[in-house]
Amino acid sequence: MSVNEQMVQDIVQEVMAKMQIASDVTGSHGVFADMNEAIEAAKKAQKIVGKMSMDGREKIISNIRKKTVENAEILARMGVEETGMGNVGHKILKHQLVAEKTPGTEDITTTAWSGDRGLTLIEMGPFGVIGAITPCTNPSETVLCNTIGMLAGGNTVVFNPHPGAIKTSIYAINMINEASIEAGGPDNIACTVQKPTLDSSNIMMKHKDIHLIAATGGPGVVTAVLSSGKRGIGAGAGNPPALVDETADIRKAAEDIVNGCTFDNNLPCIAEKEIVAVDSIADELMHYMVSEQGCYLASKEEQDALTAVVMKDGRLNRKCVGRDAKTLLGMIGVTVPDNIRCITFEGPKEHPLIATELMMPILGVVRAKDFDDAVEQSVWLEHGNRHSAHIHSKNIDNITKYAKAIDTAILVKNGPSYAAIGFGGEGFCTFTIASRTGEGLTSASSFTKRRRCVMTDSLCIR
Ligand code: NAD
Repeated sequence: MSVNEQMVQDIVQEVMAKMQIASDVTGSHGVFADMNEAIEAAKKAQKIVGKMSMDGREKIISNIRKKTVENAEILARMGVEETGMGNVGHKILKHQLVAEKTPGTEDITTTAWSGDRGLTLIEMGPFGVIGAITPCTNPSETVLCNTIGMLAGGNTVVFNPHPGAIKTSIYAINMINEASIEAGGPDNIACTVQKPTLDSSNIMMKHKDIHLIAATGGPGVVTAVLSSGKRGIGAGAGNPPALVDETADIRKAAEDIVNGCTFDNNLPCIAEKEIVAVDSIADELMHYMVSEQGCYLASKEEQDALTAVVMKDGRLNRKCVGRDAKTLLGMIGVTVPDNIRCITFEGPKEHPLIATELMMPILGVVRAKDFDDAVEQSVWLEHGNRHSAHIHSKNIDNITKYAKAIDTAILVKNGPSYAAIGFGGEGFCTFTIASRTGEGLTSASSFTKRRRCVMTDSLCIR
């Protein structure tokens, strides 16, 4: 560890210790003992935000961006330390991405019609206080990204974060409120409770002052939110296949897929979770993965041992989620050098390490007899989540056929999965991909309601 790394690690330890001591202090920059109090505080803050100019909102957002960059390393280290998941270097990049590429108020656009009968506008107005539920896989990234978008839309937000990432989430929420106060805004633009539970989540979902809920997580939470009787944005689970056909640049496909799969130890919901390769190039692809991309080829016995460790009683072992390949292999008694970053093997699509959304760098390869078979197997593996899929092909007819068949919110062609969220690809960033409810990649406008504003017979100056 270098001197700088040691300094940041010391700061993280100090912050984590202080947060332990401060866990009884309530009302501090958005943190409350009780969900009702948190919602009340966010409601008061929203009254102020609602009267602020767009420029005022943008000043707060700029300060949140600045603090996110300044605190990226601390947030990254806290996230890894608290959840035991992910990779510090990649989490730093994710925070920088949130700061730089999450859309702000520029995303709130107006539609206008003018003519003989006057002027009509569609303006995007705030919902008020939004309830947000966030995952442990991208804890502070999601809190920051959601807040920027929701605030740009004129809302404030109450979070019920994953309990396993509460310290990291609270650090981000404190930082957001400090940024607001420094920029002339109110405290409590983002609020939470000290100890989030299913009860606090239920209070939030049923509260009369919450009109929109954004849920980022697995199928359970999305179903709960969509059953709440409130409007819900459901950003649910995925199991993205990467299809490789015979027209692809096979060597580059191996590099892109392994880069995407291993990013933050495979935690992002968009990351490549398995490969479907047509028979004629499957061996060549695996050759490059193993010889050039740091993939460890697991034997049948090693696959069985990994399955037993990763899937405890048919359920995903949380102790394996977000771990690196070397650690996972260590759990089954296999020692590998540091350059090993991914585990691969060939298997049928039904293999538990292939069919399950693992969120760890295990990348099974399914062989398909031809392109149509590859599409069919990929669609099966995506499990109807309609979330993300990827393809490596130079045949636009094949790409089009796959895109229509798999029907996902995200489809990356000829690149690593993270290009979808603006990292090495065009477009904005988000950590809430509303696969279930159809908003797709959420941004500020997703958190607004459409309001029609009509002036009759005047204000048309054409
Ligand atoms: P998780 O589903 O265990 O938890 C997510 C959040 O939901 C947590 O805050 C948790 O406390 C809460 N929760 C879970 N069940 C609930 C219920 N019945 N009622 C109310 N709240 C409930 O997921 P996780 O392990 O934190 O994150 C990983 C999962 O999230 C993966 O499936 C991944 O694909 C998905 N995810 C999706 C997106 C997206 O944008 N679509 C982004 C990140 C993660």
